[in-house]
Amino acid sequence: MSSLPTTQKAVVIETTGGPEVLQYRTDYPVPQLAEGQLLVKNSVCGINYIDTYFRTGLYPSPKPEVLGREAAGTVVAVGPGSPNPYGLKVGDRVVWMSNSGYAEYTAVPAKSAVKLPDGVSEEDIVASFLSGLTVLTLVKETYAVQKGDIVLVHAAAGGAGFLMVQILKTLGAIVIGTAGGPEKVALVKGLGADHVIDYRSEEGKDWVKLVKEITNGRGVDVVYDSVGKDTWEGSLEVVKRKGFITWFGNASGPVPPFPIQRLAAKCITIARPMLNGYLETREEYEFYSNQLFDLLKSGELKVKIHKIFPLAEVQQAHKDLEGRKTTGKTLLRP
Ligand code: NDP
Repeated sequence: MSSLPTTQKAVVIETTGGPEVLQYRTDYPVPQLAEGQLLVKNSVCGINYIDTYFRTGLYPSPKPEVLGREAAGTVVAVGPGSPNPYGLKVGDRVVWMSNSGYAEYTAVPAKSAVKLPDGVSEEDIVASFLSGLTVLTLVKETYAVQKGDIVLVHAAAGGAGFLMVQILKTLGAIVIGTAGGPEKVALVKGLGADHVIDYRSEEGKDWVKLVKEITNGRGVDVVYDSVGKDTWEGSLEVVKRKGFITWFGNASGPVPPFPIQRLAAKCITIARPMLNGYLETREEYEFYSNQLFDLLKSGELKVKIHKIFPLAEVQQAHKDLEGRKTTGKTLLRP
């Protein structure tokens, strides 16, 4: 550790609030390593919608806090204990998912880092890592999508949605996407979605009616709803009898409490999953990471990077994400 700096650039929040609480600092301490941790010098960090939940306090977390759940970079030190945890060592290029990614250096549990595959850029890996693992677990474990299933994906042009549409098509699903605005609609159509509804347009505001028309009144087999407050009721309406809904995010706010009896008439099954719950063990982590890397290496999964912001411009990056101005994934360069 002796040749490493003691301070670094990082984005810190001391209190919850709007994007203005994100403080860019150049004198933040480089973390000390505990047993089982790696010090990673990050070269690119992902911005995820969940970062805004910790910023606003929707999800509580201790403050001060360095936000950011994923990044790629180089291992520059290994903590006390095992010299090569999970076979990782100084000099390895890794991608990781943990906390405190909006920084030059992060102390990462070795269990949460995997070596970067050859042939895919660090930027593309980070732009698809947390989002892609989320999608894979959602379409394989939360509900195992079958060939011919009719699947509704909300926010289909976003970081997770962009990858979900493609992965669903590889599984043979019939995909109905929703997205806000004509450019986003065109983007999602270009991914092979069978139907795309602009749910912010005059006609598309009644997306419930349109989905019923598309499915000839039958409804969809499964809904992947990460929008939450604005769409949850419509999702209940458009799912078929014996259908499945997974609510996995709160882009417009959380799904409010509702009587479970509302599921009865159509025998609907619901889920509210979280990625970490599927990646508890190292085996699970490697299993899904390898699936993702294979999709990227084969070219079956395309990545879209909206923009790479310098760390100092993180406030603007959050404004754009919450302002629905982004498509695909937004990244930070420390
Ligand atoms: P996105 O890039 O998808 O951004 C969110 C999108 O949601 C926007 O682009 C916008 O698309 C749509 N949206 C709809 N209503 C609103 C609103 N009122 N305000 C802002 N955006 C709105 O983000 P991510 O890819 O990072 O995440 C997508 C979702 O997946 C989030 O809800 C996130 O919490 C969830 N998620 C959950 C995980 C889990 O483990 N449960 C893991 C990873 C992600 P449009 O303009 O087209 O409507």
